[in-house]
Amino acid sequence: MSKLQEIFDKIPNSPIDRITPQMRQLLKSKKFRFDIHTHVFNSDFIPDKYFGIRNTFFVNPEFLEYVEDVMSQVQNLAIEDDNLLNYAMFIDFARQNTMEQIVQNLISVSPPNTIFAAIALDLEQAIDDKVKKNYEVQLQQTAQIRDNYPQIILPFFELNPTRKNWLKILETALVKYKFFGIKLYPAFGYLPSHPNLMKVYEFCQDKNIPIITHCGTEGAHTSRNFLTLRYTVLQDGQLKQRRTSKVFMFKNQYIKYFNQPQNWEVVLRTFPSLRLNFAHFGGDDDWDGNRKTDRQWTYRIFDLMERYPNVYADVSHILHLKVMPKLFKKCITNNSIIAERTMFGSDFYMIEAYGRYKSIRARFTAEIGTKLMFMLSVLNPLRFLGLEQLVLNDKK
Ligand SMILES: [Zn+2]
Repeated sequence: MSKLQEIFDKIPNSPIDRITPQMRQLLKSKKFRFDIHTHVFNSDFIPDKYFGIRNTFFVNPEFLEYVEDVMSQVQNLAIEDDNLLNYAMFIDFARQNTMEQIVQNLISVSPPNTIFAAIALDLEQAIDDKVKKNYEVQLQQTAQIRDNYPQIILPFFELNPTRKNWLKILETALVKYKFFGIKLYPAFGYLPSHPNLMKVYEFCQDKNIPIITHCGTEGAHTSRNFLTLRYTVLQDGQLKQRRTSKVFMFKNQYIKYFNQPQNWEVVLRTFPSLRLNFAHFGGDDDWDGNRKTDRQWTYRIFDLMERYPNVYADVSHILHLKVMPKLFKKCITNNSIIAERTMFGSDFYMIEAYGRYKSIRARFTAEIGTKLMFMLSVLNPLRFLGLEQLVLNDKK
């Protein structure tokens, strides 16, 4: 028996049996909603370099310190639209708070009874820089947060298949700490069809374990420039493994190469029932009407939704764009499947780099309307997570 088989044999077959009794209770009460995309790890798990890579403003640490300095002097002024200040506040937020405080803050700016998918990220593997605490500690602390808030925290963990001990991480998260789902962040240096992942998807499909993949033009990428990539292709109906070496210099190269939805084609052809959420729905560049990138990724995702029954997307991060709700409504008038496969997510607290989440959310909700919001934050996540049975037919 393979090690993977051994790991997944220990995981209950039904997603309903993988959530806490307290969450089951909340779901049965029918008074809940989801935020399918949040982060609660603090700066103990974030290398300094990450901030520079994520927000290209901060090319060096001295500049970062300068911004923080300016910040500290004007923090009390109510400035909403200043990008630099927003970035600085976002960094300060991660630096000054513990994970517990971040969760409390998240709860305080969200509607009552929101169930949060809390996503742990393996920044230690992705970025060549020191972190205070390692990834296993982050997994342990995320599980602790779930135990402290068993009604509302649904933990996801990033699985980086290039890690030497990736199997150990998988086992620790799924078996020891009972994480609910998996997050992938291809720009951290791996393609979705990495051979290790291809083995994992088979079990995820069988056990209805949901996967959230980063699919946006924003965010971070690995700090490594020279990468040897392993991936899978379909040739004459057979899966074949390939290897290639690539050099990356600019943010755009990483983003375009790793995050594009078409990288998932071979995966979905092989595992057509996989539960997959394209987080950020293609990202800011695709949704911001001013940038005119032809909405290439968004349309790719629409296409995948039509061909595969469990492909979803979320509005996390892009919800800060003023044009987004209107554009979204336009998309769904021509295609109802999009309304049924889109989920609400905030990308808290990363979203704070673009303004205060509470007001971003209020604007988004007002424009999208209660009926659509109910689909996005209640019905669709229930289906994506495989928990709809629990709520819809009220058997004990
Ligand atoms: Zn995120």
